[in-house]
Amino acid sequence: MNHVIQKQLQRESNKLKVMKNLGRELSFLGLLPIVEESGNLRSSGNFSLRFKDGFFITASGVDKRNIDSDSIVFVPNIKNSIINIKSNKKPSRELFIHKSVYSTFSNINVVVHIHDLLVLKFGDKLRIPCTNNCIIGASKKESEEILYLLKKSPIINIKNHGQVIIGRDVEEVLELIIKFNKQAWKLNINS
Ligand SMILES: [Zn+2]
Repeated sequence: MNHVIQKQLQRESNKLKVMKNLGRELSFLGLLPIVEESGNLRSSGNFSLRFKDGFFITASGVDKRNIDSDSIVFVPNIKNSIINIKSNKKPSRELFIHKSVYSTFSNINVVVHIHDLLVLKFGDKLRIPCTNNCIIGASKKESEEILYLLKKSPIINIKNHGQVIIGRDVEEVLELIIKFNKQAWKLNINS
């Protein structure tokens, strides 16, 4: 195996480790609720990491408590309008949100989509911008509304659904998620 390929694989396996840890952390916080779908357990929510000209994203219908190489899909080029993926797994259905974030914000390397019900409930008090409609499996066009809000705030609510959080690295995104989760819990206890 030549040196370049070896280096690339090393970097990829490092991303796999980061994805694995992020999945474990978010699951531990209860932000990727487990649901049953035709007898299989999967966790809702999804996340991605920028890599080279593309990004790694969680596959559709996997349990994010224990991510392995089969749970991740690589999207090779964010600039292409046609998404060319060589994988037997389907990427998350929120693919267009992730793709449009990376092609719009050059400094953003992590995108997370979770379902924090309390942050949704107290979104106004927490001053988190919110979409006008409930969007699930965002199309290219629907991603534009999300993108518009993300230009104002790195965390946004999707009405009656969940959140999209973006950041330069995993630590930045996790810090934001935990901060708003804590604030929402406090508001809930005092309500
Ligand atoms: Zn969702």
